[in-house]
Amino acid sequence: TSANPDQPEFLQAIDEMAQSIGGWYGKQKDFRKSRVFQRLAEPDRVISFRVSWRDDKGVLQHNRGWRVQFSHILGPYKGGLRFAPSVTESVLKFLGYEQIFKNALTGLPMGGAKGGSNFDPKGKNPAEIERFCQSFMTELSRHIGPDIDVPAGDIGVGQREISLLYGHYLRLSNTWHGALTGKGCNFGGSAVRTEATGYGCVYFCCEMLSHNDMEIEGKRIAISGSGNVALHAAEKAIDMDATVLSVSDSDGVLEFKDGLTKKDLGKVKTLKGKGGHLSDLSIGQFHKGKTPWNLECDIAMPCATQNELDEDAAKTLVEAGVSAVCEGANMPLTAKASEIFRQKRILHAPGKAANAGGVAVSGLEQSQNAMRQSWSAEKVDQELRDIMKKIHSEIVSADTGKKQLSYVDGANLAAFKRVAHAFHSFGSF
Ligand code: NDP
Repeated sequence: TSANPDQPEFLQAIDEMAQSIGGWYGKQKDFRKSRVFQRLAEPDRVISFRVSWRDDKGVLQHNRGWRVQFSHILGPYKGGLRFAPSVTESVLKFLGYEQIFKNALTGLPMGGAKGGSNFDPKGKNPAEIERFCQSFMTELSRHIGPDIDVPAGDIGVGQREISLLYGHYLRLSNTWHGALTGKGCNFGGSAVRTEATGYGCVYFCCEMLSHNDMEIEGKRIAISGSGNVALHAAEKAIDMDATVLSVSDSDGVLEFKDGLTKKDLGKVKTLKGKGGHLSDLSIGQFHKGKTPWNLECDIAMPCATQNELDEDAAKTLVEAGVSAVCEGANMPLTAKASEIFRQKRILHAPGKAANAGGVAVSGLEQSQNAMRQSWSAEKVDQELRDIMKKIHSEIVSADTGKKQLSYVDGANLAAFKRVAHAFHSFGSF
């Protein structure tokens, strides 16, 4: 705590890992002696920089930008960029730390990183976003490259921003190589990358349900968020004959009592793509200031942001008979909410595993760029399904030493072991 003052999100992520692996780690004399856990909790470096840009009135503005290069033990640094006013060093350190282990679970050669800025893209004109992205990349370009660090998108950074960032990177570096993922398919991007996190989350959910003698067909799913992850999770869930009860945004929740249809999903996608508010739609029932967690559902799929589902929400979901929680977002549950699901033995897939599909397809994009190839959507989708299946089987076979299968502990242990063994073998790294 003293080394990371005022970094509650980061400490929460470290604490969750410690709780999961504590029993196993206590018996690892060599790892303890070389302080593997403590050293892994220290990022390789945190790059922090000023981003100056001119707004449409000609006024010079500035924001803070960061890249947290957490660990490149298993491969080049890899992780998204987030543009939102809530971005702090603590948030990016928690996301970077989680990313090390998520990437390890995919089995692909990727280290862990995260970056972004406290810049708020909401309400900005396209020219302002372009000038901001160019200024941000002017500094970031010094620190990235296909064998060094390969950023992608996250909250507030979709395909438009990735394209602007990549275009500027090309001008600065004069070298075409895949230094960013999530690019447009006509200039080096991978098929299915946009859909991958949401689709992968549903694929993982299906594996988890089937391992526990259930199936997704007919299940009522409460989804939060209406961004990239949420809307593609909703799309795949509808394809699999589940009933999607909701989507949400910062203003409230849009409920669909009889289930969201593909047609209405299209309306939500169009509106959110233009930066609109769910409250402006004339479909479903909008509940201002509410979350989806008081809906009677079988599966809760939080896909918006960190700590969006708290203890009270967890209690409400349990009382309503929820069977599974599958995290599309990163660390969407508070520590207390997570503890409630553990006590009540609710199936709980952590983001590290359930939302790893996005970075997995980013890894496949890196491979395609290196080979100068472009794979079909069918091939990438099949690879994605296989990776989610493999992550699931690694988790259920992780020997956590506990009688009850916990997906949180299984994911943390399987990933930590992989990283720790490599780290330890590097000596005083
Ligand atoms: P987007 O920016 O596309 O969408 C975020 C959504 O969450 C928006 O609907 C936004 O609402 C909503 N939201 C944000 N903050 C809040 C809040 N405090 N309360 C309620 N709703 C909120 O982001 P993504 O879909 O890309 O990312 C969502 C989550 O998934 C994040 O945790 C991210 O780290 C994680 N993730 C994303 C991956 C990806 O490939 N994109 C990969 C792995 C994880 P509004 O429109 O009002 O802002």
